[in-house]
Amino acid sequence: MVKHSSRIELKQSAYKNNVNFIRKKIGAHPILSSVVKANAYGHGIHSFVPMAEKCGVKHFSVASSFEAEEVLEVCQPDTDIMIMGIIYEEDIPWAVEHNISFFVYNYDRLALSLAAAEQVGKPAKVHIEVETGANRTGMQADEFPKALTFLRKHKDKVEFEGLCTHFGGAESISNQFKIDQQHARYKEFLKQCKSKKIEPRLRHIACSAAALAMPDTVYDLVRIGVAQYGFWPSPDIYFHHLNEVGKKSDGALKRVFSWKTDIMDIRDVKEGEFIGYGTSYQASHNMKIAVIPLGYSNGYPRALSNRGFVLINGKKAPIVGLINMNLFMVDITYIKDVSVGDEVVLIGRQKNNVINVASFTNSTMLLNNEMLSRLPAAIPRKVVK
Ligand SMILES: *Cc1c(COP(=O)(O)O)cnc(C)c1O
Repeated sequence: MVKHSSRIELKQSAYKNNVNFIRKKIGAHPILSSVVKANAYGHGIHSFVPMAEKCGVKHFSVASSFEAEEVLEVCQPDTDIMIMGIIYEEDIPWAVEHNISFFVYNYDRLALSLAAAEQVGKPAKVHIEVETGANRTGMQADEFPKALTFLRKHKDKVEFEGLCTHFGGAESISNQFKIDQQHARYKEFLKQCKSKKIEPRLRHIACSAAALAMPDTVYDLVRIGVAQYGFWPSPDIYFHHLNEVGKKSDGALKRVFSWKTDIMDIRDVKEGEFIGYGTSYQASHNMKIAVIPLGYSNGYPRALSNRGFVLINGKKAPIVGLINMNLFMVDITYIKDVSVGDEVVLIGRQKNNVINVASFTNSTMLLNNEMLSRLPAAIPRKVVK
């Protein structure tokens, strides 16, 4: 197979560290569901899922039936998959067939689940997602009593696997009043289950931010996305943690991901010449530049034109000119002993220097999640120790 123009490495020891850290925060009992939507936040489902399983994760959450299928291709037979978002009506029997549980976000979906269970001859496992204040997806309070009646009536065919909701903005302390209100409304739904004597197997509401900073939101399962990849959901959550442990800084979460390529060519540029397209960069002195074989079509943000850096020989090489579709150039005039084929770190560590995702996204106004999830699936991912 021919080589791709860049590569992504996943560090298993860093992931194990993150899982251990999250486990310490949530305690021994809850299921840790690894959220691997958006191609595992760009880490690559096919490489990430088996690595996570080696670190003890046995439950994965995805946004769509399409992603569930990708997990199913690589996971162990006894691993659980949960679809939190879109599953088209015609795909519900497929989910039932493969023991994949899914969110039921309105009342009509219950009848569809029952029909699928009857068609396949196996129970459907449903998580009733309730509307608590994000006003995105979730069953409204007025539909809930009849949903409980339905679940009791059809409990052999439609299993009440979970009762859940999702916080709209748990990572920010300024949203706390809204999050508290969502949690209070969730408890009302739980109360109704109790009084109707039809209770969910798993109660779950916490995402990374809630699981790390609001222990009372941790029930039977937590849905952990961003934190398992080694990123604090927000500065608020990081400072909350620092307060808790009484430290000024803490490397408790470790970046799993790094992104690398190699120098394609090296050339001299004379003073006064322009580099690449247009005239956005003019050499103010005689320069040496390295050509990097990837660009915005490979997920490298064009907004880093003339302002980003890569690492070469452990030094920061500034980007000169515009990021092209498949190429960009960096200044190596002041970096010693550079050759064609040398490793280039786009995100990650090289010798004593590091480019982390935050420093990368600060100047582009991209969210960490946004930048990572846009990395093309075609970039090869490799697990390293
Ligand atoms: C994405 C998502 C999560 C995980 O969120 P993080 O903040 O990345 O931990 C949890 N629950 C739902 C419903 C989601 O869509």
